[in-house]
Amino acid sequence: MRIRVQVIIESDQETAPAYVEEVACFERGPLSPETLGLRLCEAKQMLATVQQIMTAHQVEDYVEQQRQCLHCQQPLTCKGHHQIGMRTLFGKLTIESPRLYTCACRSLKKQSWSPVAALFSERSTPELLCLEVRWASLMSYGLTVGLLSDLLPMEHQLSTSTVSRHVHQVAERLEEELGNEQPSFIKGCPTQWYALPEPDAPLTVSLDGGYVHGRSKDRRKDGSFEVIVGKSTTGEGNMTSFGLVFGYDTKPRRRLFEVLQSQGMQMNQAVTFLTDGGDTVRDLTDGLNPLAEHILDWFHITMRLTVLGQMAKGVPVEHKGEEFEQELERVKWFLWHSNVYKALQVLEWLELDIDAEASPEARKLARTLHELDHYIRTNQSSIPNYGDRYRNGEPISSALAESSVNQMISKRFVKKQQMRWTKRGAHLLLQVRARVLDDTLTTTFQRWYPGLGAQDFSQESVLEAS
Ligand SMILES: [Zn+2]
Repeated sequence: MRIRVQVIIESDQETAPAYVEEVACFERGPLSPETLGLRLCEAKQMLATVQQIMTAHQVEDYVEQQRQCLHCQQPLTCKGHHQIGMRTLFGKLTIESPRLYTCACRSLKKQSWSPVAALFSERSTPELLCLEVRWASLMSYGLTVGLLSDLLPMEHQLSTSTVSRHVHQVAERLEEELGNEQPSFIKGCPTQWYALPEPDAPLTVSLDGGYVHGRSKDRRKDGSFEVIVGKSTTGEGNMTSFGLVFGYDTKPRRRLFEVLQSQGMQMNQAVTFLTDGGDTVRDLTDGLNPLAEHILDWFHITMRLTVLGQMAKGVPVEHKGEEFEQELERVKWFLWHSNVYKALQVLEWLELDIDAEASPEARKLARTLHELDHYIRTNQSSIPNYGDRYRNGEPISSALAESSVNQMISKRFVKKQQMRWTKRGAHLLLQVRARVLDDTLTTTFQRWYPGLGAQDFSQESVLEAS
């Protein structure tokens, strides 16, 4: 059996004959699982050929229209021919790009321009750009190139450096849309806030920091730097992610403010910030909302207590006959009920009871205990009655904060020890990654390139959501 595939191009002018070209011919012997339907290499070859024929006709048509003066309809003279390269999902194209002289009817000064080159100022189609950038935010640049080349007729048009350049290009466009940084984003005064409509349930923002291995222009290994990631959740459970490289980002507050704005924050609406108590994370939340409350994420307290409990296993300590472990349980119970005074008292007694000179383990335990004491002391204004809040269904912790660190950083940035980032590279990738995880990259592309909106070009569920 022989299967022949043709392309038929019909012109808008009905009198013009249709263009017909055979693009593929497949021979098939007896039916077997291997011979059923198209093979990937055949499909790739066919798509690439269709793409070449189709685009050649499209460009030819366009050039034909450009060849005459818009005002007097006189044909324009051609200065010369060039070719431009254009990356598409179905192969890299070489497109004819004539250079035309402007018409004398408008200006006597002779100038030339290239209409095709002007039309394709970005040398990749937006759909390819979107797909590339989306996968690159989920897996390494190398894997992205591998995946796309496996499935599409790419023929070496992509390299890791192209993908990385495209990620930066898209992220920088997103960055340009972000407004200026301000010391405060609180607008209006209390009288105006009272007049606002009844607000929705409080927004819960979990913020956390993580570290990424750094590199710089001249040094492959260059310490590590802090990345802040977070998620804001509405009462209905809609989440928006964000991330930034601390010390690199010049607009961290604006970034967070825009996230809150996108979730419909009103100035009379409460916002709960759940943090690990770190200064960098806390400073970020200043001046965003008059009703903001800060809460030390219960998760971070329990984490520290668990670590202490583990350390104490090999160290004999007791306080008035009570085991160290039971004392820690009391600390936890006091903190759960916002009784910081009592919690600190127990911690102090335990510190006194450890003979730090006894062993290196004991010294380490004493130091960690002291650090916890300091941590509780500096954050005491952010330690609410967790028990009450819990019973009222108010947020006290976010495994959420942890999962956003995992989601935003670990999987893409720190999985392999050898992965090293420049601050700029990490910051820009985070911008794209946040959109991909929130499923909003496609809608952003449709806003930038309205022609993309006509077809449902991805499987993302954003179209339903919007
Ligand atoms: Zn003219």
